[in-house]
Amino acid sequence: MLSKIVIANRGEIALRILRACREMGIKTVAVHSSVDRDLKHVRLADESVCIGPPPSTNSYLNIPAVISAAEVTDAVAIHPGYGFLSENADFAEQVEKSGFIFIGPRPETIRLMGDKVSAIAAMKAAGIPCVLGSDGYLDDDMERNVQLAREIGYPVIIKAAGGGGGRGMRVVRGEAALPNAIALTRSEAGTAFGNSNVYMEKYLENPRHIEFQVMADEQGNAIHLGERDCSMQRRHQKIIEEAPAPGLSKNTRNRMGELCAQACRDIKYRGAGTFEFLYENGEFYFIEMNTRLQVEHPVTEFITGVDIVREQLNIAAGLPLSYQQKDIRFTGHAMECRINAEDPDTFMPSPGTIVRYHAPGGPGVRVDTHIYSGYHVPPYYDSLIGKLITYSDMRDSTMNRMLIALDEMIIDGIKTNIPLHQRLLNDANFRTGSLDIHYLEKKLGY
Ligand code: ADP
Repeated sequence: MLSKIVIANRGEIALRILRACREMGIKTVAVHSSVDRDLKHVRLADESVCIGPPPSTNSYLNIPAVISAAEVTDAVAIHPGYGFLSENADFAEQVEKSGFIFIGPRPETIRLMGDKVSAIAAMKAAGIPCVLGSDGYLDDDMERNVQLAREIGYPVIIKAAGGGGGRGMRVVRGEAALPNAIALTRSEAGTAFGNSNVYMEKYLENPRHIEFQVMADEQGNAIHLGERDCSMQRRHQKIIEEAPAPGLSKNTRNRMGELCAQACRDIKYRGAGTFEFLYENGEFYFIEMNTRLQVEHPVTEFITGVDIVREQLNIAAGLPLSYQQKDIRFTGHAMECRINAEDPDTFMPSPGTIVRYHAPGGPGVRVDTHIYSGYHVPPYYDSLIGKLITYSDMRDSTMNRMLIALDEMIIDGIKTNIPLHQRLLNDANFRTGSLDIHYLEKKLGY
């Protein structure tokens, strides 16, 4: 087993990784910015190293600082969590070149999946259904692009090949708007992602977002852990996730899950990963693969009983997966609400001091958070301050549990989106399930 690892992240996910390490007897090094000295996992870690000032470009994204922290503490591996350096192929490569284990896929896999055009090509080759699209980058031949859009059929969406975080996309509803949309997306993508390549896809009007969790080891074994429905989104960012996806049949789950597991074997995938699909009229369309642990992994842990972080650590140590596909059973229903420090109406971030915090509890309630009474939420990072996850045998009782847990959860001193979750969980349409990715925004009246 790994003797000591660096946790190159902050907040709830750093604490989640730390807990897995403590259970497994792995020593931990917390690296943190100067404003994050009081984070819970920094206090609990065996060692901690301050790697820079608050802005993440100078700390959590500072590759030499993170690698030096591993060197000075004699760590053997680095867990990147999600966000920050987790999908940075250059980072993974430098970690390995410096003699450490990167807890994640091989750098070349991260690179392949980091460009959505090469990811789509690889997935098509592996037999995964994709959205009808340009099958490559768009060039400046506008006549060709116009012809392509006609063949695909409007509306189309122009997307940045290197895009992420729901940015770098533009919907085009008719020919007149096409040249400008391509030029704008291209220039924005160049500035935001340092990669001005763009591609074209059919724009699906009312899809759901359904993704499959996979895990693969160095020995060539790969399994799937079923799907999650993440259709409740605002600005393409997930707010509520659940597993299983309402209404998805066992046969479809097994067929799609096995396709994803087979794709992992084909590309020699290593570690935890997620295949993201749009799902419309009973058909799946691959949009991208995330080559890391996801925010919403706990819902899968609840319905399968698999500890995904523990598996990641085992795989990084060179051990085979602890499970074969036949060992995986899907039981009950789980849901996750992302708790953000933000105004529930305007969505403006709400940093500040949490003067009072009471955690919810009871059967089937899991709280993944780093906050405590007196904790100061800094203004520099993502507004996610925790995740509330509930589990029960049926979707309806899971939602009832969530409402009770949301009611019990007290966070005073800053604003949170708890009222938004309460509204959604009381919404008659959401209670019935099967809503598309635009539902939340429509409900909010945009
Ligand atoms: P990112 O990497 O920024 O998350 P994705 O490619 O995963 O980008 O897309 C994010 C979201 O954008 C999807 O969940 C969906 O809401 C929307 N989207 C992306 N592609 C399409 C498409 N072809 N049709 C309709 N919506 C899309």
